Amino acid sequence: MPRPIQATIHTGALRRNLARLRAAAPGARVWAIVKANAYGHGIERAYEGLRGADGFALLDLAEAERIRALGWRGPVLLLEGVFEPRDLELCSRLNLWHAVHCDEQIDWLAMHKTHQPHRVFLKLNSGMNRLGFAPQRYRAAHARLAALPQVEEISHMTHFSDADGPRGTAAQRAVFDRATSGLPGERSLCNSAATLRGGTDEADTRALHADWVRPGIASYGSAPDFPEHSAAHWGLRPAMTLASRLIGITHMAAGDSIGYGSTFTAEQPMRAGIVACGYADGYPRHAPTGTPVLVDGVRTRTLGRISMDMLAVDLTPVPAAAVGTPVTLWGQGPNGSCLPIDDVAHAAGTVGYELMCALAPRVPVTVEDAEARPSA
Ligand SMILES: *Cc1c(COP(=O)(O)O)cnc(C)c1O
Repeated sequence: MPRPIQATIHTGALRRNLARLRAAAPGARVWAIVKANAYGHGIERAYEGLRGADGFALLDLAEAERIRALGWRGPVLLLEGVFEPRDLELCSRLNLWHAVHCDEQIDWLAMHKTHQPHRVFLKLNSGMNRLGFAPQRYRAAHARLAALPQVEEISHMTHFSDADGPRGTAAQRAVFDRATSGLPGERSLCNSAATLRGGTDEADTRALHADWVRPGIASYGSAPDFPEHSAAHWGLRPAMTLASRLIGITHMAAGDSIGYGSTFTAEQPMRAGIVACGYADGYPRHAPTGTPVLVDGVRTRTLGRISMDMLAVDLTPVPAAAVGTPVTLWGQGPNGSCLPIDDVAHAAGTVGYELMCALAPRVPVTVEDAEARPSA
């Protein structure tokens, strides 16, 4: 028997989350964001659940090839554009749309030989200060692109730094509106947080959502603004479950410690369970004693340090637990139970994004499609 750890990708949850995001932005088209191998879910495994989107957006040219290989003929957008001139050949061949965020990318386009002119998303730096043209340089970049025979259509995009927090989106939106005002072309601003949190009223929200929204994390069932709001608050379901089993039971006397560094000491006699899951599986090593975990669907806590291949859990609330009892590290558990990945990430001082993306290659992954009909 293989080691009992197992990840599951829930196709139905991806579909529902996407529908939820569509409902939040009814006037906009939706990019499914599948960078970082679909936030660790696997592009091929997530595809069935996300193919109802209007397009797929990602960073890596190899990932764009994988989306086309799955048979997707609709829009594919490279969010960082191309990294060197010859990447443009692949854009022409696979009909990829690409971001343009710097002068070099315009230079490369101007030298590119193509029969089919490209659709590009010109990126404005509205305050994030990562990629994009500064507001005062934006119109000149637009004029240069518009004059190129290699360019067919120019859309406008920017990215928010604070859509999930109290600073919000208003200041960056004002910069974007000023820089793009009067220019033709579609517009895209919103990540998950901006898509779900919206603007000040219905009309403002519609303007914020513009032509295309770009929700990533929410489609995978994690709240972009946790702990202010939970995934359940936004009507999102976990698309990834990490599950394992108890492989050992330890009886601790008062004063006994557990794990490396003896960081947890029992105050009274207690039972601890040893779970086949450690940081080499992608579980965060920094998760302290008290990080939530489900044993047979019952919420309990980790004890002591996370090892490479194992971690310990408190079995006090689960007296019937024995070797073989199922453990849910995050996601959907037995009997309708659920452990939001955001709860685990928060306890470990990180975000759901990082845990999803860190799922280790050694963990076997299956896809569960509860709604799929058996083929006749
Ligand atoms: C990753 C990314 C997104 C999605 O962000 P989430 O917070 O996961 O919704 C949107 N736009 C760009 C440019 C990105 O790089």
